[in-house]
Amino acid sequence: MPGFKLAIDGPAGSGKSTISSLIAKKMGWTHIDTGAMYRAVTLQAIEHGIDLNDEHAYSFLETSNIHYDNNKIYIDDRDVTEDIRSEAVTKNVSLVSSFPYVRKKLVDLQKKAAEKGYIVMDGRDIGTVVLPHADLKIFLTANVEERAKRRLKENLKKGKHAEIEHVIKDIATRDEKDSTRKESPLRMADDAIILDTTHLTIDEVVSKIIDLTDKKENKHGV
Ligand code: C5P
Repeated sequence: MPGFKLAIDGPAGSGKSTISSLIAKKMGWTHIDTGAMYRAVTLQAIEHGIDLNDEHAYSFLETSNIHYDNNKIYIDDRDVTEDIRSEAVTKNVSLVSSFPYVRKKLVDLQKKAAEKGYIVMDGRDIGTVVLPHADLKIFLTANVEERAKRRLKENLKKGKHAEIEHVIKDIATRDEKDSTRKESPLRMADDAIILDTTHLTIDEVVSKIIDLTDKKENKHGV
């Protein structure tokens, strides 16, 4: 069956979602932002008022329907694209995503969503766990100051102000938690191509990845 699986992983603020979304748009592919899915679970957990430290309390996932479609994330039919960016969600998402039960539920959904067609999926464990046989794996990095600056800019566009020190601390804490958790930590797949984007523009990164994709597609004769 024709198709291409592009896996993009990297730490917080490395530009994964923006870049994946632009690639998908340019190529006419489907983009799935798995970070948004972990954020949606976190939002739902907060709204249900469960004890966030109790893995069993996440059993609400048996009946909830979380899906990512066309740059928007939904819980059942409710569009929560804005709500998942709140400070409370950002603060707690690394805890929520550390539970094996939560990961299993979301990884199953992600594998299923990527079964057919041309897919760009971004996250932390896409090349290692979700799509270990992806056609191309990219690991995006950038130094933490640059990542914090980008986050600040993004926030400013939405009218949110923050101190750079605060954002750096927040990003570094999340990186630490995501890289040291037991269950599928943030790690570069052995066969991933690393792209340091510290001194690159978004357009440059997008072009580089599209070039790499074209080369792979031609090699595969897709
Ligand atoms: O990509 P974003 O920063 O929105 O991801 C939010 C959080 O979701 C990450 O800090 C991480 O804890 C979790 N995550 C994950 N595995 C993924 C994607 C995100 O654990 N594949």
